[in-house]
Amino acid sequence: MNNINIPSNIDNLSQILEDGLILCNESGLIISSNDVARQFLNKKLNNRNIYEFIEIAEFKNLEESNQKNNLNEEFHFQTSDILKRSLIIKVKKIEDNLFAILFLDMTSQRNLEKVRRDFVANVSHELRSPLTSLVGFIETLLSGNVKDEETRNKFLKIMDEESKRMNRLIDDILSLSKVETEEHITPNTTISLIDPIKHIILSINEKGLKEENKILIDDLRDDPKKNCFISGDIDEINQVFINLLENAIKYGFDNTNVIVRIEQEKNKEIKVSIINSGEGIPDKYIERLTERFFRVDKARSRKIGGTGLGLAIVKHILIKHRAQLSINSIPNEETNFSITFPIIN
Ligand code: ADP
Repeated sequence: MNNINIPSNIDNLSQILEDGLILCNESGLIISSNDVARQFLNKKLNNRNIYEFIEIAEFKNLEESNQKNNLNEEFHFQTSDILKRSLIIKVKKIEDNLFAILFLDMTSQRNLEKVRRDFVANVSHELRSPLTSLVGFIETLLSGNVKDEETRNKFLKIMDEESKRMNRLIDDILSLSKVETEEHITPNTTISLIDPIKHIILSINEKGLKEENKILIDDLRDDPKKNCFISGDIDEINQVFINLLENAIKYGFDNTNVIVRIEQEKNKEIKVSIINSGEGIPDKYIERLTERFFRVDKARSRKIGGTGLGLAIVKHILIKHRAQLSINSIPNEETNFSITFPIIN
């Protein structure tokens, strides 16, 4: 079979292609393959038959299928490895006894669609529960059966809370979809990192989210007065710190302080850690925390006004800023959310 001459331009092109390419003879014997195709199917492809890897009837005999016009359509195939890649396969006869088989990787599109489907299902579920509660109370009040003012006021207060919850949920959903779709666009404005953090701390302390808990700064840099600059979007950076600091207070023990520790890592990076004492997060949940709507204790998060989207928003903003998030927690002791930003000298 090696007496088939592969045009050299095809062979060169095949190696720079981002898609997989295999060249076969008419009975499906593989003559040449590029790295991508080997990544998709098997490390050793050459001199084996394409049908060994892809059990599609038309591939048993390529010449015969070609004559029957059976190779015109696209074929869909899923690899059997753990990645379960979704591939679209196109076959073209290049010349006598030479077929090109092209593999397009559709895995990320498929994953994206799945994420989107899950998201729509989750969002409608999350919105339905406050809505059902609102509708129930409205019907009860309209029925005229609730005569005493105290009960009526109690119902109205719950309705007020539920409608605010729906509002927060919608705001967070909009924020999340914005940061998610723009995640690949790195911000090109230079902003100071320390000043906004200090402003947020001041305003949360003044707001007194929990009166007994305060946020303190522990700046370990050689020169704590020095400013520090990053490429960033100021509103998004504010949102990251507001979400993390509010969580640290919400999920922290009463009468304990939240520490914001600032450390300079070499001259290239700055690390900001938000540390609180609290019940913490069991190890098995740490990885899932940044998933949308994931909450360790759903009832508790709901009671304190959570939407379950805060950390998902944080994750996507940090990806956009090329910053690293690391989460460590010792249950009933300390929980630490650390972010390392690349800095501009
Ligand atoms: P929520 O609106 O529920 O606070 P987040 O996305 O901000 O949603 O956080 C997701 C979950 O992560 C929370 O429900 C909580 O279980 C957990 N969590 C976040 N921060 C902390 C913290 N500092 N200590 C303990 N648990 C936390």
